[in-house]
Amino acid sequence: MDLRQVLLPLAFAAVSGAAAAEPVPTVIVDIHALGADRLQAMKNESSVRWAAEFGNELLLGVDPARLGEWTKRPRVRDGLGLLAPEEIWIRDHVCAHQALQPALGVVGGYEVLRQPASVIRFAERSGVVGSALPANGVVAREQRNEAHPKAATAVSSAVQNLVDRVDAERWFATMSALASFNRNSFSPALGAARDWISAHFDANGLVSSRFTFTLENLSNCTPSPPPINIDNPIGLKLGQTLPDEWVVVGAHYDSRNVARCDGTVAPQPGANDNASGCAGVIELARVFANVATERSVLFMCFSGEEQGLWGSRRYVESLQASGEISKVKHMINLDMLGYDASGPLDARVETTAAHAALLGEYSAAAATYAPELNIITSSSTGGGSDHWYFLGAGVPSVFTWENGASVYPHYHKETDVPANMTRARELAGGILKMDAAMLAQKAGLATLFADGFE
Ligand SMILES: [Zn+2]
Repeated sequence: MDLRQVLLPLAFAAVSGAAAAEPVPTVIVDIHALGADRLQAMKNESSVRWAAEFGNELLLGVDPARLGEWTKRPRVRDGLGLLAPEEIWIRDHVCAHQALQPALGVVGGYEVLRQPASVIRFAERSGVVGSALPANGVVAREQRNEAHPKAATAVSSAVQNLVDRVDAERWFATMSALASFNRNSFSPALGAARDWISAHFDANGLVSSRFTFTLENLSNCTPSPPPINIDNPIGLKLGQTLPDEWVVVGAHYDSRNVARCDGTVAPQPGANDNASGCAGVIELARVFANVATERSVLFMCFSGEEQGLWGSRRYVESLQASGEISKVKHMINLDMLGYDASGPLDARVETTAAHAALLGEYSAAAATYAPELNIITSSSTGGGSDHWYFLGAGVPSVFTWENGASVYPHYHKETDVPANMTRARELAGGILKMDAAMLAQKAGLATLFADGFE
């Protein structure tokens, strides 16, 4: 199908003329490791009308008369038809196959849709899930394309010792075991998965507890199931010197099948989404076992994520109600860290513009302790995972994962099983090394390794 024919701008013509520019043909350019200067030069070419940067790919609106020149170039693939930048709508880490409107295509791991500019201007009220193109046109940037990419810092032997404890094979085994539970939020087996996670927290010297909440009145879940009480298992490592300052390491452990969100359609193994993240939380708890930290660390697995981030949302609301939210100094979220089909080992680090300085810290940690990763950063993270309500409460929070849910062909399907997670150990191992280094920095290493440290 020729998208250009389908997309002739009918809806666009109906938009009151003022704001929108004329739609032009688009191309997609592979800009992996292009470098800041060449990337800027490409954006400035006379045949380029506008540019939208999506990490390792660049979506360009080009002069219609010169489209042919572009399509003949190396590293260029077909675009998304005629588009104006005001119509670009970006969808990420949402159950897109359920959405009414299919994407035009995937660029740099993000689903790109076309919406009338009028809808985009009133997106919050119109209830469309996604986000507009940021004003600077940069949705995400490869660290290698930064003007000043973060270089490796001096290695701290204490941190390196922790990083060396990350065991990707052990993580893979944990992830595979979790994937064997039915972890739909409405499944009777969810409690068994919760207890299994808590047992791992106990085994690593953490103080286990549960945060219980009611999942109910789900407007986005059809048919809407009856209310149910479910839990977030928590493992507390008490800080040595600053116990009332907390770092949260979280990931959701529930899973879903795209067909229905109430668990009646099975199976929904959720190996990558998100046994991978929950197993990552357990792996970091192991890495930090017997390691004294200045701040307290709360290792936590959320439920109800797949119905709308309910576990993390209700937990954040409870901290806001009790006044304890100010204790949370940092939050690391892990969701889908085990798939990259080929090429560079892409890992995304996301937060909001208010906390953009954290992107440099994570990039430097990766350059130092996980140089195998090709880091892509974004300061326009969406509400697709459990960092969202922490960010909303003002907590500096970072989402670390693969290069978008859209790169994973088994997302929310019964085929989301460990065997389909290409290069799982390499990618998750790298992300967990980066996160271990950042957790050491954010929690602070109290005394150099109380005991049990080789
Ligand atoms: Zn998920």
